Amino acid sequence: MDYSLPRGTQDILPDEVDYWNFVEKTAKKIFDLYNFNEIRTPIFESSQLFNRVISESDIVKKEMYTFTDIGNRDLALRPEGTAPVARAFITNNLNRSPQHSKLFYQGPMFRYERPQAGRYRQFHQIGVESIGSDHPFSDAEVITMSYRLFSSLGLKNIKIYINSVGSDTCRPVIEARIKQFLASNLSQLSENLQEKFKHNPLKMLDSKDETLQTYLSGLPDMREALSQQSKDHFNFVISYLDHLNIPFEYKPTLVRGLDYYTETVFEVVSEDLGAQNSICGGGRYNNLIKNLGGSHTPAVGFAFGIERLIMLLKKQNISLPNQPILVYIAALGKEYQMECIHIAEDLRNLGLRVTIDYNKIDFNSHIKLSQKMEASYMIIFGEDEFDNKTLSIKDLHKRKQESIPASNLIPYFESLTGLTYV
Ligand code: ATP
Ligand code: MG
Repeated sequence: MDYSLPRGTQDILPDEVDYWNFVEKTAKKIFDLYNFNEIRTPIFESSQLFNRVISESDIVKKEMYTFTDIGNRDLALRPEGTAPVARAFITNNLNRSPQHSKLFYQGPMFRYERPQAGRYRQFHQIGVESIGSDHPFSDAEVITMSYRLFSSLGLKNIKIYINSVGSDTCRPVIEARIKQFLASNLSQLSENLQEKFKHNPLKMLDSKDETLQTYLSGLPDMREALSQQSKDHFNFVISYLDHLNIPFEYKPTLVRGLDYYTETVFEVVSEDLGAQNSICGGGRYNNLIKNLGGSHTPAVGFAFGIERLIMLLKKQNISLPNQPILVYIAALGKEYQMECIHIAEDLRNLGLRVTIDYNKIDFNSHIKLSQKMEASYMIIFGEDEFDNKTLSIKDLHKRKQESIPASNLIPYFESLTGLTYV
């Protein structure tokens, strides 16, 4: 019997979860500042949804977790969040809402990939989708929001790359330029890439092939290939980012892995991450909702992987915000434990984190455990305290101990913490 952890997945243990909470809470706080609201969609969807939307991508070709359920439905564990959110937008007629839909999501995604550092089969993404506006303000707003988020987390050495892949009308012109640029080196490329050259030259820009990447480093500015409308759109995004002093770099080889992007695409990278250096990717997708049977609805969004982001937080030695203080209550004898429960509940009413250990009854073992648990205060209650109607309070950081009247417990902690008893 094999009960081992499935390949490419991981248990996230309590110490590690502190990082996850930090990232998730910060993201929610930032999204709220921009009036983005959370949406939760199922973890599995019809396989067709992803086949329709990202058919050309590696995900559908070889990374999808698909299965047939008892009712013979073809389902897939979601490999990404945009297609499900677009589907939910259509299913729930969100186009009828008075404002355009500013949504965010978070949760597990599944891709059958070769596991390695920063690459898992179950990983987690947080993403946003701003649906219903074709104004470049929206593109710039989500890019700005991603920058604010990564800065708020304390990240350093982050860079935003941006590019425009234009609209449907620009696409043939861009593709022709890429073909023209690569034509003389075509014979040196793999069969697979030669195939892409014929059918989807834009996709070549995204290739990890080193020979091709060397050629591509000389790719000229592609903005000339854009229609006037797409140029104006892209220039607006750039001037907005300039206006807010958001550091970005134009990167003509940037295209995203998924098929649905139009106009602006962007990526946030960190030089500190090594091979898997991309932490966040996104862009505009004006045709996706229509392709799924909705009305023409332009949209723009981004997603980032939580695991890679946490790797980066650790690499950059970014410390987590301080945990709220922990009060350890030590009963010096079984007969005093019941009274300690009272003390604990009173302090919890005040909003304090409180722990009691019922197995330990002598001072030394209490002290050892409270230090291991990194408690801030220890309240000691034993024979002396019982007789004198007092409590002994030990500040475990300052190593100071004092005795207070038992009736003074709440005011004592109120003035210590600034909290108010409810
Ligand atoms: P990569 O080029 O690294 O394969 P991708 O283009 O497949 O990335 P997207 O589909 O754009 O990535 O997903 C957005 C983010 O999700 C990535 O920037 C990354 O942080 C994260 N991500 C993608 N695949 C994985 C994975 N298998 N394990 C962990 N994180 C992942
Ligand atoms: Mg990938």
